[in-house]
Amino acid sequence: MTTDKKVRVRFAPSPTGGLHLGGVRTVLYNYLFARQHGGDFILRIEDTDQTRFVPGAEEYIFQCLAWAGLEPDESVKQGGAYGPYRQSERKELYRAYAEQLVEKGQAYYAFDTPEELERMRQDFKTEQNPSPQYDHHVRDKMRNSLTLSEEEVDRLLRENTRHVIRIKMPENETVGFTDMIRGDVSFNTSLVDDKVLLKADGMPTYHLAVVVDDHLMKISHAFRGEEWLPSAPVHILLWKYLFGLENMPQWAHFPLILGPSGKLSKRDGAKYGFPVFAMNWTDPKTGELTEGFKEKGFLPEAFINLLAVLGWNDGTEQELFSLEELTGKFSMDRVHSSGAKFDYEKAKWYNHEWIKKLAPEELTRRVRGVLEAKGLSVPDDRLLQHIVELVKDRTTLLTDFYEQTAYFFRMPEHMDITAIQPKWNEAKQLFFTEVIRNYELNTDWNAEVLENNFKEIAAANQLKPGEVMLPLRIMLVGGKFGPHVFDIAAVLGKEETIKRIQHTLGLLG
Ligand code: GLU
Repeated sequence: MTTDKKVRVRFAPSPTGGLHLGGVRTVLYNYLFARQHGGDFILRIEDTDQTRFVPGAEEYIFQCLAWAGLEPDESVKQGGAYGPYRQSERKELYRAYAEQLVEKGQAYYAFDTPEELERMRQDFKTEQNPSPQYDHHVRDKMRNSLTLSEEEVDRLLRENTRHVIRIKMPENETVGFTDMIRGDVSFNTSLVDDKVLLKADGMPTYHLAVVVDDHLMKISHAFRGEEWLPSAPVHILLWKYLFGLENMPQWAHFPLILGPSGKLSKRDGAKYGFPVFAMNWTDPKTGELTEGFKEKGFLPEAFINLLAVLGWNDGTEQELFSLEELTGKFSMDRVHSSGAKFDYEKAKWYNHEWIKKLAPEELTRRVRGVLEAKGLSVPDDRLLQHIVELVKDRTTLLTDFYEQTAYFFRMPEHMDITAIQPKWNEAKQLFFTEVIRNYELNTDWNAEVLENNFKEIAAANQLKPGEVMLPLRIMLVGGKFGPHVFDIAAVLGKEETIKRIQHTLGLLG
């Protein structure tokens, strides 16, 4: 292990479905670490399990990273000096490493058929060990190059008999390494099974490919989720056997992200009504759509921020961090080792804060996208920005801007007339008729003038402003929400304001 070499980190997803927020956090921490050290961030597609191939999943990962602003330096798309960056395109190079291990007695050919493996699982099943693995207890009773004669093995190989290559886990040895977050971690090899390294289809398994590629791509630090910790002893041994531990990356395993019921799963999201994927993901087989943070209305800035603090803090009370600030402040020794609880209410708080924090022009640009996608015809930037500023305190998600602003651009779809009706009377009808007359003659259409005139007419009619303000709001907005009602009237303009009052009077009369 050396520390003076160039920092090169990687995110190595298997493109099999939606990108979970834990995955994006892994990307983020990798990205920050690379940026901080002037290093490279590599995206490697680990697609060696062809049975799990999912069309569109790879492209989707790129889209998620682009949305989050965490673009890799090297990848299938960007290219780079260490490609190909898709493991299925590197297939040919792995076998030699597996063969090398067989030659040294650290791995072996196994010819067991699926039926033989199933029989082993039945024969070795005990109460203490209900699902026996292919390990040091079992391997000398199976059909492999440890039990068969050399001639038999040669013959089977010559005849192209289906086989795999398995690592031969040593018995009762301790394998350890220093995790940058957890400190010293060790495993007893007797508890680890003889993982397949090369599959019958000639493809490496994840275990072999990850080690070979981290080596060939000169990865200096390998960061991943805690769920990979149990695989670490296999990887460490492979590093030892293949490369004498030379230039082994420094490892860090990030804490799990916990949902309301343990490890946050995709099902949690569906159950509790919040997203778990970065972006919408549609399973191409079932057509099932799982909503993403993006489509739910999260800003990438907020998403990044909330992920950064799920498992890390800077030791102060600060909660809001931009990507730039994170690049300055993030440090691996402040990443927690225990699980981080995801709180959707808090996630929404981050988004609300970022809506307020974003530059008004930028927020306006994004709101325009949301509104236009909903088919609204949106005014010029200057007016839209004014509207956005009026309502932004009332929004939590970017998508809230639709409900909070649509009435500016067209008649409210629904008029909550029942909120006015019970207290409606002749006096109010006359009052609003007078307001219309007054507003028609108005030559200075601004919120202050409109409010003053409205209040004067109310006073002259012995009405409290409070009694007529709610009806006015409903007339203009359709419901009991929105910013200051005269600010709304000011934006709507004379013609539209009068039209809406008249329209509602018609409904009430
Ligand atoms: N291919 C693994 C995954 O899907 C990568 C784990 C690692 O980073 O070593 O997450």
